[in-house]
Amino acid sequence: MARRIVVLGGGISGYGSAILAKKEGFDTFLSDAGHIAERFRRRLDEWQVPYEEGGHTEELILSASEVVKSPGIPETAPIVQLIRRHGIPVISEIEFAGRYLDGARTVCITGSNGKTTTTSLIYKIMRDAGMNVALGGNIGESFAYSVATGHYDWYVLELSSFQLDGMYKFRADVAVLMNITPDHLDRYDHSFEKYAASKMRITQNQRSSDAFIYSADDEMTTRQMELLADGMRQRRMPFAAHTAIASMAGDAFFDGGEFTASVGGRSVMVDASKMRIKGLHNAYNAMAASLAALAAGVEPEPIVRSIYDFSPVEHRLEPAGERDGIQYVNDSKATNVDSVWYALESMTRPTVWIAGGTDKGNDYEPLKAFAREKVKALVCMGVDNRKLVESFTGVVPKVISTSSLDEAMRAAVAEARSGDTVLLSPACASFDLFRNYENRGEEFKQWVKDNILGNGAKE
Ligand code: ADP
Repeated sequence: MARRIVVLGGGISGYGSAILAKKEGFDTFLSDAGHIAERFRRRLDEWQVPYEEGGHTEELILSASEVVKSPGIPETAPIVQLIRRHGIPVISEIEFAGRYLDGARTVCITGSNGKTTTTSLIYKIMRDAGMNVALGGNIGESFAYSVATGHYDWYVLELSSFQLDGMYKFRADVAVLMNITPDHLDRYDHSFEKYAASKMRITQNQRSSDAFIYSADDEMTTRQMELLADGMRQRRMPFAAHTAIASMAGDAFFDGGEFTASVGGRSVMVDASKMRIKGLHNAYNAMAASLAALAAGVEPEPIVRSIYDFSPVEHRLEPAGERDGIQYVNDSKATNVDSVWYALESMTRPTVWIAGGTDKGNDYEPLKAFAREKVKALVCMGVDNRKLVESFTGVVPKVISTSSLDEAMRAAVAEARSGDTVLLSPACASFDLFRNYENRGEEFKQWVKDNILGNGAKE
């Protein structure tokens, strides 16, 4: 019987899945309720994959033997509910592409924060070491497209909880869980436990020879591991800065200055002050990356070299320039409270902090201690700044309310003196004033270029 694969969503994960399905000989169809980008349409045409956009034709979808759903489409979408009512299995791109790995192995990274940084670092270490490795999942090329068109020995994949939700048989050779803190709870019935359980799926199906790398300092992770205890057979490799740990399989510990990561008698020693990525959170990210690379068989010496050579990923505590002793830092990706906590933690100079945007039900309490200690002025940048202003008045010496990037930047520059840092780390989504966090970060950097560094295009 000719099996029919229907792919829902024509974004980066969807187009790749459709091409892989076609290549594997399935009767294939892709359906997107919105618009499909030109570059993906071109590739679908090239591979002669039939598709529709601007709506879903039920007959063409309900004839599927299996549906590959893009992670951006929620379970509550009417078409997904209809598919479920018809009893058609729904899986994610990772589950689908994972069937055609042909012996290639995977390093999979998830967590509430630190995914992109850690994934990029692991990829860099493996590539620098000369391994035949592809980058995918939430970043880089579509994983399914790489599987369809390339021949790799390793895939390094960044996985969101939405992707994990559609994974059943998939097994990671090396699984990395950075942390579990509240985020996206709207997609998990507002239950932190459900969201956490979804993150733990990164460990499912792992065998005794596989590795699971996790933070021993993270309360929710350790709680979830106790729940799963009996079912976990893999080699467990914790990393920590606070909790005393020792694992026969491998572990890493940061003492505030340097960290040691060891797997099977091979160790790396890294001096955090020599890394270009700063702060405790980046020590966690580098420890996780070291354990993953050791578990994947990379030698210690090149691991240390690649870590020292690694620069911050764009929009993650990214240096955006310095003039007259004032440093500008773009942390636009910090869209929740936990990531800002780590940004403030890493600040070593008096800080003018720009925050605000669309509040996701934030509790700012955890930020107050660092704000008191390090922030000389908070510039609120958003359509509605009330909550931020209320939360930090009396905590930091000055709180200024603004409603555009230009106004916020002028206020920040007026407050900053030589020796200070101007930090954009919003704790909020960007949709009130910007298209997305990338656009917010670009505009910040452009403003600094045009108005501070003086080498941008003048109007
Ligand atoms: P993700 O892909 O999970 O969103 P990123 O690496 O893009 O993670 O970082 C997102 C934000 O979180 C940035 O503001 C960054 O500075 C901060 N961050 C990075 N790593 C960590 C970590 N291990 N714990 C907490 N915050 C982190």
